[in-house]
Amino acid sequence: MGNNVWNDRRKFIWLLSVLLLLAFLVTSGISYKVAHDSLSQQIESNTLPLTSDNIYSEIQQDLLRPIFISSLMAQDTFVRDWTLNLEQEPEKLIRYLKEIQDKYDTVTSFFVSEQSRNYYHSSGILKQIQDVDPNDAWYFRVRSLPESEHYEVNIDADTADRSKTTVFVNYKVFDFEGKFIGVTGVGLAVEKVKLLVELYQKRYNRRVFFTDRLGNVTLHGDAYDGSGSLQTSAGLEQLATRILTSPSAAFSYKKNGKTVYLNSRLVSEFKWYLIVEQEEAPQEQDLLNTFWGNLVLSLIVTIGILFISNMTLGRYQRKLEIMASTDKLTGAANRQVFEEYFQQALNNAQSTQAAISILLLDIDHFKKVNDNYGHSIGDLVLKTVSNLLRGQLQEKDVLCRWGGEEFLILVPEMDLSRAAELAEQFRRSISQRELKVNGIHISITVSIGVAEFQPQETSEDLIKRADLALYQAKEAGRNQVVLNN
Ligand code: GH3
Ligand code: MG
Ligand code: MG
Repeated sequence: MGNNVWNDRRKFIWLLSVLLLLAFLVTSGISYKVAHDSLSQQIESNTLPLTSDNIYSEIQQDLLRPIFISSLMAQDTFVRDWTLNLEQEPEKLIRYLKEIQDKYDTVTSFFVSEQSRNYYHSSGILKQIQDVDPNDAWYFRVRSLPESEHYEVNIDADTADRSKTTVFVNYKVFDFEGKFIGVTGVGLAVEKVKLLVELYQKRYNRRVFFTDRLGNVTLHGDAYDGSGSLQTSAGLEQLATRILTSPSAAFSYKKNGKTVYLNSRLVSEFKWYLIVEQEEAPQEQDLLNTFWGNLVLSLIVTIGILFISNMTLGRYQRKLEIMASTDKLTGAANRQVFEEYFQQALNNAQSTQAAISILLLDIDHFKKVNDNYGHSIGDLVLKTVSNLLRGQLQEKDVLCRWGGEEFLILVPEMDLSRAAELAEQFRRSISQRELKVNGIHISITVSIGVAEFQPQETSEDLIKRADLALYQAKEAGRNQVVLNN
């Protein structure tokens, strides 16, 4: 019986802990997910595009000017007339180029004639373009651009100063009939664009770089630590096509276990892609820390709740057990649990070969006590008798309220004669005791039947024999002990 209750309690505690932890886990998990998603959303659709917009417009401002200047040069009637005029007096064109360079503060300005293949520069005629020179490949590339494209933007070492990297705007020049007669344009120091990229990189902790339409990285800041092309960037191999086939894209991908947010857009003027990347936000770590913190807190709360409920349950359970097994008035064991005590005594007796006896005690003429003094006084008398008996019993003995004013006393390790002595002791002490209740003096006596357990008999048989002895004691005039043997 007790075991079942204990099992139920354990089951209950387990269920409670599982439920609590599950609830905590789910709520923490959900709140983490919500915060995480809104952070990702925020980065992907808000902060990253904003950075991209800013860079885009600044770069545009910086680079559109040279494109505009180059376009002016390509359409300048002087340049075209002079070229068609067989490039006489080169110093005139050279002065023109110098003026452009000074006026617009570009790092270089040039014109290459298709006729003579001369490379005119603000400082003079630098060289002649050669079909076989790889450094001159750009010229033939520009020349063979589709008709709809008038220029290209290219990053290259400067022909005038090969140690400098320059952003060139190479503009096709046509004569008045639309025949290709050369390429002109200006160059912008890459440093300027690089500085801009670096500024953004530092300010927003983002990676900013440009790629051409094939995915090759064309321009990046000094701190750039990525690879040479999108196709060879870790995590981006599969996504490169997606970037290079749409004017703009925004997504996140995994790189070395970390989430990287990416925003790309085609800068159509230069035919480059501007790529802005950001690794997992630092707030992400905060979210994760909060999540774990929550879990630890939940664990502590759960343990606390379990501890408290276990204690409360234990106390409640003990109370229930006592209530179920004890007589309320006298505090003696009740009739229902006698059998359990008896079986326990029987088990013990089996191993020690000891005797077991029982005493069945009944108050004489108790009805009169009730009739004369009232029921509550009767109750007091019952309590007093019970206390008196308990005071003379040992730890291993069991006092049991058997009926209204009847007590059954189980005395293990006692044979009939010693039980008889104990019964006689009870009888004498109760009869000699004058109870004083509310100034009233009450004398009572008890009759006791005693029996010793005999092997093979049931508890019922034993009690029946004690009852018979008690009956005989009553018959014989009460206030006496009778043995059954
Ligand atoms: P006898 O000597 O033959 O035992 O006489 P008796 O009057 O004690 O016998 P009986 O069994 O006829 O009466 C028992 C009485 O005990 C009847 C009942 O009213 C009373 N009684 C039983 N339980 C309680 C109780 O809890 N409190 C009180 N005050 N009286 C009780
Ligand atoms: Mg009775
Ligand atoms: Mg009685």
